[in-house]
Amino acid sequence: MIETMSREDMQKLQSHRLKRIVEHAYHNSTFYRRKMQEMDVTPDDIQSIDDIVKLPFTVKQDLRDNYPFGLMASPMSEIVRLHASSGTTGKPIVVGYTRKDLSVWAEVVARCLYAYGATKNDIAQVSYGYGLFTGGLGAHSGVEAIGGTVIPMSSGNTEKQIQLMHDFGANILCCTPSYDALFLAETIHASDIPLEEFKLRIGAFGAEPWTDNMRRELEEKLNIKAYDIYGLTEICGPGVGGECECQNGTHLWEDHFFPEIVDPVTLKPVAPGEQGELVFTTLTKEGMPMLRYRTRDLTSLHYEKCRCGRTAVRMSRILGRSDDMLIIRGVNVFPSQVESVILELPEFEPHYFIVVDRVNNTDTFQVQVELRSEYYSDEMNKMLALKKKIAGRMQSVIGIQPEIKIVEPRSIERSMGKAKHVQDNRKLY
Ligand code: ADP
Ligand code: ZN
Repeated sequence: MIETMSREDMQKLQSHRLKRIVEHAYHNSTFYRRKMQEMDVTPDDIQSIDDIVKLPFTVKQDLRDNYPFGLMASPMSEIVRLHASSGTTGKPIVVGYTRKDLSVWAEVVARCLYAYGATKNDIAQVSYGYGLFTGGLGAHSGVEAIGGTVIPMSSGNTEKQIQLMHDFGANILCCTPSYDALFLAETIHASDIPLEEFKLRIGAFGAEPWTDNMRRELEEKLNIKAYDIYGLTEICGPGVGGECECQNGTHLWEDHFFPEIVDPVTLKPVAPGEQGELVFTTLTKEGMPMLRYRTRDLTSLHYEKCRCGRTAVRMSRILGRSDDMLIIRGVNVFPSQVESVILELPEFEPHYFIVVDRVNNTDTFQVQVELRSEYYSDEMNKMLALKKKIAGRMQSVIGIQPEIKIVEPRSIERSMGKAKHVQDNRKLY
């Protein structure tokens, strides 16, 4: 089994695959050929996995600048699926998969499920959203790959979620930990169906950072074992790694996604076990290979063999991000999106402050804005209409609606240099 390969054999496989993928990227992607030429590197310079440090980094902005298909390294006739993730500018980032890429994706999700102890006898309710978001279809294909039965539920409609979970006897629940899983758990407890009538035993939770406290809470409330699943759209989606029964780190499937940890400032690799920014090189992806993609996720990697027998490297919980992206109820929110909406509306000063918290296990999202004095009104209706206008606009740009708090002009702190726009009280990290 590839997950128990010796480190030496793994490095041989990685070296072989790196050489092939660099050649593929160099010859089939103008973007990567140009980047490599700028650094004076050719595929011949890449002889082993250690040579990876000679390669250029890739960042999210590169995907935006080449929107929509500029980073594809296979002709569109070979691309069989597109997914997209929201971005700061309103333009999403787009990724493309060949048939082989989809089968690798299904396989890595299957490895996660297998590591959780799932088998073909299990019934999995996939409550990640289906659509452009990678969560739903990603988890879906993994369940099919292990031969399990999939309930393609998608997110939302909690009452129905619970009814089908009960009636179909789902054993596995795949969804985000904070919003979906906790909300489902609470709704089950508030319903008249006793928990004992549910057959759930495994939770596959991810798409956002979560803590061990949250794990304990979910395990208790749903009477399950809760496991992490990690991934990002740029690399394939969920399934880049998953926890095993030992629950002591997320195994990364490093025969397909080669991980590095670099210092986010100097971009130099750090020593094994040290914290830094996670960087991935896709070793087998055809449609849209990524060389040294900077995830902005901060974590550390551990190479000691796990008690489960797997040698695949383990990643600590994500500690935070080196950029300013917030994940609120599973949705990626950038302060710059909030800013862009405020700047569109003449009624408001270009100052804002975001307060994020977690109340009763649900993220709260408040945006404080300053109304220009000439728009002030004693009429309640007018003020409510203004709030509604800005909240509605934010919903359409960001994807979730904040609570708007109108504050006195000049009451939001002004600062020199980089303004502090966010107060995150959730203590996720
Ligand atoms: P998604 O659409 O699945 O949220 P994105 O590509 O938009 O995927 O976001 C990926 C980011 O979500 C990751 O870089 C990471 O910050 C976060 N993320 C995903 N899974 C996890 C996880 N299991 N633990 C912590 N953070 C996660
Ligand atoms: Zn393990």
